[in-house]
Amino acid sequence: MTRYAQLTKIVVMATFSLVAISCSNYGGDDDGPPPEIMSQPASTAAPTAEPAPPPPITASSVETAGGKCTEKTQIMCWEWDDVAWEQVTKDELLQAIGNCAEDLDVCEAFNREFGFRIAKRNACKQTDSEECWEYKSYREFVSIPPERSPFPPPDADAQGEATRLLSAGWNRPTSIPTTYVKTADLSEDAISEVRKGVSATEAYLGTYGPLRVFVVGTDVSATEPIVQDFCSWAHSASTDNFNSCVEHDQGVGIREIAQFQGNNGFAQHSSSLASPTQSFVIGNPESGSGNKIAVHEYVHIYQNAHLLYDEGMPRWLEEGSAEFLALYLGDQQGWGSFKQEMEVALATASRLRSLIPRLRLHDIETEQLRDRVLAFCGRCMGQLQFETGQWATAWLVRKTSLDTFYLSFLQDNASLGWIASFTKHFGLTPDAFYIEFDNFMNLSLEAQSAILSTP
Ligand SMILES: [Zn+2]
Repeated sequence: MTRYAQLTKIVVMATFSLVAISCSNYGGDDDGPPPEIMSQPASTAAPTAEPAPPPPITASSVETAGGKCTEKTQIMCWEWDDVAWEQVTKDELLQAIGNCAEDLDVCEAFNREFGFRIAKRNACKQTDSEECWEYKSYREFVSIPPERSPFPPPDADAQGEATRLLSAGWNRPTSIPTTYVKTADLSEDAISEVRKGVSATEAYLGTYGPLRVFVVGTDVSATEPIVQDFCSWAHSASTDNFNSCVEHDQGVGIREIAQFQGNNGFAQHSSSLASPTQSFVIGNPESGSGNKIAVHEYVHIYQNAHLLYDEGMPRWLEEGSAEFLALYLGDQQGWGSFKQEMEVALATASRLRSLIPRLRLHDIETEQLRDRVLAFCGRCMGQLQFETGQWATAWLVRKTSLDTFYLSFLQDNASLGWIASFTKHFGLTPDAFYIEFDNFMNLSLEAQSAILSTP
């Protein structure tokens, strides 16, 4: 593969690998250098007439925002603005591939990628499917503050449940070894891949559970014993929850992994059982990054072992820190390059900032806020939770240490709640962090990459 083909590939990986909102897309491989930092030409855009001032933003105008723009003064809407979109795309390609005027090979790679995106954008104008969110132009996102719940919640039932979980040892390491089951169409090697990831993570974080891992292949008919086993492990047998699991919820998810030959995964935290259990499901680990995905899912097991109430913590913290540690431990194990993968993630997170002005991590802190973002730009959510969340984790690890993040902050979520634990261990409130992290994301790629430590 030529150097320019590699560079182009990174661009494609960075912007077109749709990261699903659940932990379901970990495709892509590791070869290829990080994107180069190239100087950008000055903007050639002609000056425009002074725009009319926007209408005042009111609570109701924010709540009803979203959808395609129909008026010039409308806020929080999207449109097919060719000039604006092409500028964002050119800026990004310039940074990732290089200046077209400098080298014929670079120029060819640039034009090929730009042409591909124009064609995709033209198709999107016809279909407007959910994959098309990256081809639109967005007016500024308007933030509203999160409604934070008190910790611990005043509800007596919730406190009783937390006490029960503590006495059941939910947040303490267990001596019960993790067990693995697989569908009959997979070889033992499939389990071996997953076990490598889980073992590497248990060695760092400890063994939590009891945990059972379900490994799914591609034969849908072979999934039935696994569906029964999973639903029995995660729910009380013969209850409505069990039946719903088999027929509607995770049972369907397991069958679909086989049907679509997915290599995604999902975690389950059955804390309400009389004897609480944990579990995760992973598909076709030998078809791509099974060991790394196993680390990611195991981090979710560990995070949730230190959550005693429904509120939990923000998704960007959950997903960002799960993926960060998956790449970090994966590099230590020789499964991929932490630095390269993080730089690909940075390119994606940076492009999101250009594409959707003012959209930030704090806009998805609570489920209510997430709904606003989903209504505004749909799958953009994945890039906030994953790639941007990975870099938020990197920033917090750089400010303190890997151990402070994973062994102190996450563990103290159980007794302090995430906000107090965050403030105690990172030395600033989440709100102060959002401001500092936003400033960090405005730095040069070189300065941003410099905060990464060597695994
Ligand atoms: Zn995840």
